[in-house]
Amino acid sequence: MGELYIVATPIGNLEDITLRAINILKKVDLIAAEDTRHTLKLLNHLEISKPLISYHRHNEELRVDLLIEKLEEGQNIALVSDAGTPGICDPGQEIIKKCIEKEIKVIPIPGACAMINALICSGLDTNEFTFIGFLPLNKKLRKNKLEEIEKSNKTIILYEAPHKLKNTLKDLKEVIKDRKIVLAREITKIHEEFIRGSIDELINKIDNIKGEIVLLIEKNTISNKENKFDHLTLEEHYKLYEDKGYNKKEIIKKLAKDRNVNKNEIYQKFINKKEF
Ligand code: SAM
Repeated sequence: MGELYIVATPIGNLEDITLRAINILKKVDLIAAEDTRHTLKLLNHLEISKPLISYHRHNEELRVDLLIEKLEEGQNIALVSDAGTPGICDPGQEIIKKCIEKEIKVIPIPGACAMINALICSGLDTNEFTFIGFLPLNKKLRKNKLEEIEKSNKTIILYEAPHKLKNTLKDLKEVIKDRKIVLAREITKIHEEFIRGSIDELINKIDNIKGEIVLLIEKNTISNKENKFDHLTLEEHYKLYEDKGYNKKEIIKKLAKDRNVNKNEIYQKFINKKEF
């Protein structure tokens, strides 16, 4: 039985490949690559000549059977994506699941991953974080994800294409208000930069932004609602959101959510107090 190696490749700088990854690429019988032309450039740079087979999002399911067959025949295979770690917003999951099912050994060969490198230099909390990848384009799924982000008390990491970034920041503005944002751009490349600021500052700064981008959001420090709001009076709780720029309707909605009560109940309490 052969083995499947999940090999991380550079996310920009070609020097970011480990000695072990190079040795594995030299040793295997076959390399399954997201884009064979792209991987060929890397292999040429490393002076490695190996048979390549395409394994991408659109043929992932079809290719799995063929690759499993080859592994069962005893061939060793390396799986690589265009950049970084396979399986992280890249193909990989299907073949890995199938190998586990067939008791074929899957071996990680660690290396570059954009989200980890963005996180470690972001200055945001690295103890707990949520990696979301690309926000869904489907309206409902996107809304659900945005709500998840709103509530999260962990650092959030997103991938985004430069031409969609402004739109994504505008959507995020609705839910994250004044939480800090970091854009990690072109990591390991010549124009690498970390742009930090509030969402409004960044919306104004990113006209014509180019290159590859990881978007990070500071954790929500006013989360963990059950306990955090218990000590506040309704008025104090209201003011907390008022100071953050929410309007009356939004605040009522948030108060109801935080206190786990019906919106009308909140309205009623304010009406009784004649403050509304
Ligand atoms: N598998 C890759 C990894 O390990 O990070 C991610 C692949 S995903 C298809 C591509 C996205 O990753 C880009 O749109 C961008 O958000 C992010 N990315 C990849 N390389 C990057 C880099 N050098 N700098 C910033 N972001 C990068």
